[in-house]
Amino acid sequence: MARMFVPGPVDVAPEVLETMTKPVLPHRSKEYEAIFQRAAKKCEDLFYTKYRVFIGTHSGSGMQETGIRNLAQKDVLACVNGAFAERWYDVAVSNGKQTDKLEAEWGKPIDPQQLRDTLQKKHYEAITIVHNETSVGLENPVKELCEVIQEVSPDTLILVDAVSSLAGTKIEMDAWGIDFLLTSSQKCLALPPGISLAGTSDRALEKAATVENRGWYFDLLIMENHRLKNSTAMTSAVSLVYALDYQLDRIFAEGLDARFARHAAMSQRVYDWAVERGMDSLAEAQYRSKTVATIKNTHSIEIPKLNAYLLERGMRIANGYGTLKNTTFRIATMGETQMSDVDELLGYIDEFIK
Ligand SMILES: *Cc1c(COP(=O)(O)O)cnc(C)c1O
Repeated sequence: MARMFVPGPVDVAPEVLETMTKPVLPHRSKEYEAIFQRAAKKCEDLFYTKYRVFIGTHSGSGMQETGIRNLAQKDVLACVNGAFAERWYDVAVSNGKQTDKLEAEWGKPIDPQQLRDTLQKKHYEAITIVHNETSVGLENPVKELCEVIQEVSPDTLILVDAVSSLAGTKIEMDAWGIDFLLTSSQKCLALPPGISLAGTSDRALEKAATVENRGWYFDLLIMENHRLKNSTAMTSAVSLVYALDYQLDRIFAEGLDARFARHAAMSQRVYDWAVERGMDSLAEAQYRSKTVATIKNTHSIEIPKLNAYLLERGMRIANGYGTLKNTTFRIATMGETQMSDVDELLGYIDEFIK
């Protein structure tokens, strides 16, 4: 019974919330360390990595900052075609990195050929890419972009933000060659907000060891030292880690492939519904997000009024992001959402349009 069709925070299953009412263990107790270690191990399967996944006591943006502070001393290339990629660029600039932008129009993918040309002109230590740009409902061709980087500039580290897609879309960290892959708890993982995850390659840690001024809170080497003892340098978000541990069991019980197929089918249902009513997606069909459909508001539906109507039925969708407000709207289908929820929602929207 999912009601939130916004791209995070999303509905959390009651039984997952229930796990957070267990007594809070001291984070340096053997009992807690066992849970922490078990949860982190399960994350490795979710990330398709043989390396490690750090569990951060902060939202995903903190992992954007972690990647930037650790994985480049100076030269960063930020691929930007939406608001969250723009944020990562700002994070890099505000941390004093010399950051160039490779831009595409919002709603258009980052072009592998343009990336190739850019990399042939200048060497970068790290590249930032957003996998699923939540502001425009677009999935960048990350696998192809990784192939270009590995061919033209193999020592450049690849940093990928998959906040709104990981656990909803298949992203194979090691096979694609991603060095730092980050996500937040409150989107496709369907957990409450407050923690984030970052898959981190050995190469990334080796690079971090050479980078100055990594800070303390976000220092990957301090994180790794503690991780090897099944712990964290600072107090862990104990209750959220209980929920993560439990939710990962639910995710693997569904099966990753089944979960990805469910997400793809639900977003496709939204696209088909919209196209039938003469409204196209903002992104071209090939690059449509599989977790957050962003639809051109061709019929000038009054989105705040629609949302008021939906709220009376306990549901909510998202308006367009920033300047795309009212000219687009977004329907996220993440986490606990089922096809029957999507059918119900679209039925209500049809009623409203009439
Ligand atoms: C939501 C989102 C973020 C921000 O994550 P927080 O957990 O709110 O810090 C970053 N990138 C993308 C693609 C997002 O969708």
